[in-house]
Amino acid sequence: MHYDIIIVGAGPAGLAFARSLRDSTLQVLIIEKQAKAQIEKPEYDGRDLALTHLSRKTMLELGLWQLIPEQSISFVREARVLDGDSSMSLDFDPPENEDLPLGYMISNHRIRQACYEAVKDLQNVTIIYGQSVSDVSASDVNAGVTLEEGDQHTASLMVAADSRFSETRRKMGISADMFDFAHSAIVCRVEHQQEHKNIAWEMFQYGRTLAILPQHDRQSSVVITVPGNQVDEILKLSPQAFADDLADRFEHRLGKMKLVSERHHYPLVAVHAKKFYAQRFCTIGDAAVGMHPVTAHGYNLGLRSQATLAHLVLRAHKQGRDIGSMDILRRYETIHMRATRPLYHGTNAIVRLFTDDRLPARALRKGVLQASRRIPPIKWLIQHKLGEMDEKPSLLKALPTLRKPFS
Ligand SMILES: Cc1cc2nc3c(=O)[nH]c(=O)nc-3n(C[C@H](O)[C@H](O)[C@H](O)COP(=O)(O)OP(=O)(O)OC[C@H]3O[C@@H](n4cnc5c(N)ncnc54)[C@H](O)[C@@H]3O)c2cc1C
Repeated sequence: MHYDIIIVGAGPAGLAFARSLRDSTLQVLIIEKQAKAQIEKPEYDGRDLALTHLSRKTMLELGLWQLIPEQSISFVREARVLDGDSSMSLDFDPPENEDLPLGYMISNHRIRQACYEAVKDLQNVTIIYGQSVSDVSASDVNAGVTLEEGDQHTASLMVAADSRFSETRRKMGISADMFDFAHSAIVCRVEHQQEHKNIAWEMFQYGRTLAILPQHDRQSSVVITVPGNQVDEILKLSPQAFADDLADRFEHRLGKMKLVSERHHYPLVAVHAKKFYAQRFCTIGDAAVGMHPVTAHGYNLGLRSQATLAHLVLRAHKQGRDIGSMDILRRYETIHMRATRPLYHGTNAIVRLFTDDRLPARALRKGVLQASRRIPPIKWLIQHKLGEMDEKPSLLKALPTLRKPFS
């Protein structure tokens, strides 16, 4: 069968891209290796994503935000970053005179479900479930895929949205910078005694990093980053021992804690594709850039990548031009490289520094947090986590307050 566009991967990036093409006459095929049931009703996977205002706007325009139940969306009003044994926190307060939060929190599985709901009935989109792409090819006129059961399809453009370990990217000969942090993120939800007041906490402790992000009522989402060899030991703790240990490490700021979800864990490997395109082929979402979660850019950048590509493709289609031509793909790469490369390298540098517990690094960590008051780019990078990615680093906005916790 011939289509205009083949998307490999029905994750939140691939589905959002298909949704962006909804008003066109472009015929789209999505190929997804998971079974239909898993895509229709994705299960909670422990990931609660922090989303920026720009992402909210994009999701509203695509009609995705409206499909997420209100009680599944929470927000971050303020944020505090703590380092090691220091009592100083780097604070991110809400914008003055604006009734806006710093950012929003939504579970990954809710986003996936909304993306699926928004695409499943589109007339111009076909989805093949339960089959992997086993081979890819490209020529001057077409891109082609062969599925594991042997079926073949062609299109003017193939878009890889098949995760940070994208097989199609590799098969198209595109290499990637990969950084294995040798750490894993353990994620879950807890209930606690005290109100969180919609404050998000990021604690770069020695030995582990702890993020506590506000959910509804007295619940928070937890991200614990630890060296890979400690994961099993932590997961073996009974739910209450785990929650008690967490409350201790969080210095009982929210009182007693109780685990209210399963614990999931993810190995932390950051990936930045060296190129975002090849002949009649390009990458979006994590297949282009897979970020370390500490700065919470992942899906925010994924949404941005699909929006950029959709804009260029739709414009070319309207003008009767070839949607898979090199000049369009090159333009996409230029825009998305510019948006992602500094964030990717900046985030990795922050992670490397703030997970280094050697004495010189400890001193540097303190220095960096203090210097953030005066060096806007550092604050800006950290601030990206908290929902202001669409803001340019402005000197005024970049001056946080350093204060003692509870002062
Ligand atoms: C612990 C953690 C916390 C995070 N926190 C945040 C956050 O706060 N904010 C944020 O913005 N982002 C965050 N992220 C990142 C976010 O989860 C990802 O960026 C996003 O889920 C990636 O979506 P995707 O569609 O690109 O890829 P994926 O979700 O990986 O989807 C890829 C899809 O492709 C399919 N597939 C793979 N290979 C094939 C194949 N060969 N053939 C067919 N189908 C295939 C897969 O089955 C899957 O459905 C976090 C990630 C982690 C791990």
